[in-house]
Amino acid sequence: MGRQPTPIADRLINRSKFTSAGCLEWTGRKDRWGYGLMKIGGRHENGGKLCLVHRVAHETWVGPIPNGSFVLHRCDNPACIRIAHLWLGTHQDNMNDMVAKGRSAKGKKNGAYKYWKERRAASAANPNELWMKAKLDTTGLQWTRQAQWGWRLFDFWCHELGIAVEVDGPEHDQAKDAKRDAYNLKRSGILVLRVRNQNEGDAAKALADIQAACTWQERRRGRQ
Ligand SMILES: [Zn+2]
Repeated sequence: MGRQPTPIADRLINRSKFTSAGCLEWTGRKDRWGYGLMKIGGRHENGGKLCLVHRVAHETWVGPIPNGSFVLHRCDNPACIRIAHLWLGTHQDNMNDMVAKGRSAKGKKNGAYKYWKERRAASAANPNELWMKAKLDTTGLQWTRQAQWGWRLFDFWCHELGIAVEVDGPEHDQAKDAKRDAYNLKRSGILVLRVRNQNEGDAAKALADIQAACTWQERRRGRQ
């Protein structure tokens, strides 16, 4: 009798580590794009099928990947296997994602990549974000800062309920964002909440809006 194969969940954990950015990063073999690779089904890594580790992670910890769906990264780290950083998307989402991250044929020269980089830089320096993080923490839910969805970058994202929060500052192109949200996000069951932080009264209103949205989304998803 040979040695029992190591369970896949153990292999995922053993070969990855948390980064300072909060990613659970695969430290084993990677493909040319930086996506983790592992062999499944063979003994002692001999034979078996070569699989993309972030897909394996999704199948192991979340569930089967529907036909035609892609497991995409919210973070800009293809080696990441953290479930909170992964999401299921369509082929079109995958294409948008690739363009946004500069992995398409045209790479970093294209406009979408630049937009995404600039947007992230602007948001990282936005004082509204710290203010909002304090509000969001009072909901008792987990909120991720700067979460990526397709080629959108949300200020805050709650994976559990599928709610994104955008703090509208002067640098946001609201009309453009709103139009894109209406088409793409509704289809995916994601709720995008826009809150303002311009005046004294905005804080209380924003918190009330967020709490109402959480309740609504919970009910919609049948969790109440
Ligand atoms: Zn990550």
